[in-house]
Amino acid sequence: MTTVEKTRLYLDRIAEKAALNAFLEVYPDEALAQAAEVDRRIAAGQAGPLAGKVVGVKDVISHAGHKLTAGSKMLQGYTAPYSATAVERLLAADAVIIGRQNCDEFAMGSSNENSAYGPALNAADESRVPGGSSGGSAVALQADLCDLSLGSDTGGSVRQPAAFTGTYGLKPTYGRISRWGLVAYGSSFDCIGPLGKSLEDLALLLEVLAGADEHDSTSSSQPTAPYRAQLAATPERPLRFGILRQALDAGDDALHPTVRTALTQKMEALKAAGHSVEVYDFPLLDYILPTYYILTMAEASSNLSRYDGVRYGYRTPNPANLEDMYKRTRAEGFGREVKRRILLGNFVLSADYYDAYFTKAQRVRRLIQQANDQLLQRFDALLTPVAPGPAWQLGQKRTNPIEMFLADIFTVQANLTGQPAVAFPAGQADGLPIGLQLMGHPFQEGALLQAARVVEGV
Ligand code: GLN
Repeated sequence: MTTVEKTRLYLDRIAEKAALNAFLEVYPDEALAQAAEVDRRIAAGQAGPLAGKVVGVKDVISHAGHKLTAGSKMLQGYTAPYSATAVERLLAADAVIIGRQNCDEFAMGSSNENSAYGPALNAADESRVPGGSSGGSAVALQADLCDLSLGSDTGGSVRQPAAFTGTYGLKPTYGRISRWGLVAYGSSFDCIGPLGKSLEDLALLLEVLAGADEHDSTSSSQPTAPYRAQLAATPERPLRFGILRQALDAGDDALHPTVRTALTQKMEALKAAGHSVEVYDFPLLDYILPTYYILTMAEASSNLSRYDGVRYGYRTPNPANLEDMYKRTRAEGFGREVKRRILLGNFVLSADYYDAYFTKAQRVRRLIQQANDQLLQRFDALLTPVAPGPAWQLGQKRTNPIEMFLADIFTVQANLTGQPAVAFPAGQADGLPIGLQLMGHPFQEGALLQAARVVEGV
């Protein structure tokens, strides 16, 4: 099949599956023109590594000349003036970008229900959420609307929707992929991450996207690696897996029994295959979510102060004066969850509470990082669930933010520490996809993907 034929096929499927609301916009003419150019390059033997691949991009990643809304009314009508480094690298590798994908507003959420443009739906059961915040990016793969997606992961937003849709997602090491052009949520946590239909897809995308970038001072200059070749190789020795005791011991209300069974079956199979599997304890587990939410809300309240009605997107009509314009623009432009986080973020950063919340949370983050470093001395990778259960019903957790936050218990650790983590399918619970997660060593994504291949294969 030529790239043009494939692009047409995907455009047709996106139209057919419009009810899933995975894409907020598609670029038919541009995608077909790019596909024709890619086919010419393939014929001329000059094709880049993503030639023939059709990619969707989460609507928080800038693509010059294209709309960028971050799932928010606040950025309605805003056009990105420049491209994210990740998008430039996609295009330089001969990808076809087919459209921008639905997500929670400013990437805040775990269900895609916080999108100002309506939720994306889980293709396995349309009464259920696809996970979030990169819900559209995951559903697009689940429903076969494109080959690969680009998401972002601040606390699990690539991995959890991957698990809810039976697809694959990688949160690389913090700084491995440039954040230039990514709409900021919690800048010390944010990572652009690939989603795909296989571990090979993740390795391929990472190979294209990884590497230093002068536009992002937090991007790492650590050398990148041939991730696909590393994934294809077999480990030279048996691997050492750690399994979280708290996950094994959790009651049925905290962890779906089928998720626990998936974990214990893998544990036994890995042992039988000659790998070492040891249960580890993480006493700081209870502090992970409060630390994550205090710090990300603080960073978000600062990052989102730029949306003032002056410089970007939405501005309230007919304000009485400047202050009224600021207030009404922000009151009308932001949704409930984003407002809640801005308020809480400002609270934990306020003079009277700064030390009690923000400074303390930073200290706890350091303790979590130290505990994690010690664990990584004993293990090649840590195996946990991605989420406590499969996708829930639309509306089920919407009115209870704490319950929604609790669903992130297994994913936020890797964002607090900065280490890479991969989510891969691990069967079904109640007829819905579930996933397992492996967390690995910083800047060792190749070894992590290889370990995931081992876990998948046993
Ligand atoms: N659910 C988490 C949150 O709402 C993670 C979001 C993300 O990774 N962007 O913050």
